[in-house]
Amino acid sequence: MKMKAAVVREPKVITIEEVNLAPPKENEVLVKTHYCGYCHSDFSAVESGQLFPIPFVTGHEASGVVVDVGPGVKRIKKGDHVVACWAVSCGRCKQCVKGNEYICPEYRNFIEAGSLLDGTSRLTDANGKPLYHSVFVSGFAEYLVIPESGAIKLREDFPLDQAALLGCCVPTGLGAVINTANVKPGDSVAVWGIGGIGLNVLQGAKLAGAKPIIAVDIEGSKEAIAKEFGATHFIDSSKQDPIPIVQELSGGGVDYAFEASGDVGAIEQIYWALGIGGKQIQIGLQDASKKAQLQIIFTPLHAKDIIGVMYGHVHVHTDIPAFADLVMDKRYIDLDKLITKKFKLEELQSVHDAMREHKIHGRWVCEF
Ligand SMILES: [Zn+2]
Ligand SMILES: [Zn+2]
Repeated sequence: MKMKAAVVREPKVITIEEVNLAPPKENEVLVKTHYCGYCHSDFSAVESGQLFPIPFVTGHEASGVVVDVGPGVKRIKKGDHVVACWAVSCGRCKQCVKGNEYICPEYRNFIEAGSLLDGTSRLTDANGKPLYHSVFVSGFAEYLVIPESGAIKLREDFPLDQAALLGCCVPTGLGAVINTANVKPGDSVAVWGIGGIGLNVLQGAKLAGAKPIIAVDIEGSKEAIAKEFGATHFIDSSKQDPIPIVQELSGGGVDYAFEASGDVGAIEQIYWALGIGGKQIQIGLQDASKKAQLQIIFTPLHAKDIIGVMYGHVHVHTDIPAFADLVMDKRYIDLDKLITKKFKLEELQSVHDAMREHKIHGRWVCEF
């Protein structure tokens, strides 16, 4: 079928083109896209042009309704409301069998190839030349063909705009708090980087009963939204050194410090913001060419842990519907508050440029 999609053919440039989408093959589903959020990882992929083969259709935080299914599909049917999940696991490798499907090495090969699970793409441009997928989803397109295992069925009363956020920033942030760190009531938490993921770390820390919950960002204007999402304190790190303030607020350093900014300097700050026995949880993806400098003697001396987390250690088919229940039961913040702007596909380039200029607070979501 023909459809509009956001194509990246060179770094920094997104063009809206009419492209062709082939029907779903075995164990794949066709989804009518309703919403897709613009994540900082999309920004990195577009800006660098290096994370996926070029040309690719960008986007990975999408929701929609299933309109067709390929042969062999059993769990999903037409009419199902789904979140498109980018961490598609093989179900057979050692990590999958151990329950660590979020680090399945098999899917990474397909992500790097820009393909679906059979190694091929369903996308071609108007001239019939192949286009690559971004992380199985390619969400900035009117329709998606995704693996059945990456289609997470949701309750139908869950708003589809908020559902898109369940594809990336909610599981990544909330999962890091409750799955990876396992924060308990009364634990102290600090979060560096108050974007879509950092806000979900704050809200997850509130859900877990953490106190204090300290938000750190170089943009002082994020204080209001940080506090709405559960921060008890906010530090503008462009004006103040956060380390002594975090140490004072937490009585000598926090139990858990989350890095959600992707900044190498934040990693170095977090190390000193931890108390004895504290855990440093790294979510953000730093520039691969940069190195952090840590006085690592204090890792054993202070019994610190440095922990990396991929996709919130979520088990997608159980955790993502459970997160939707938390929202609907009003135990988690209304995700409407995270959606600070809705835009049209044709505006995606200007959204990308706004992210470069740090103008995006909360999540901007494309409406189809
Ligand atoms: Zn993302
Ligand atoms: Zn696997």
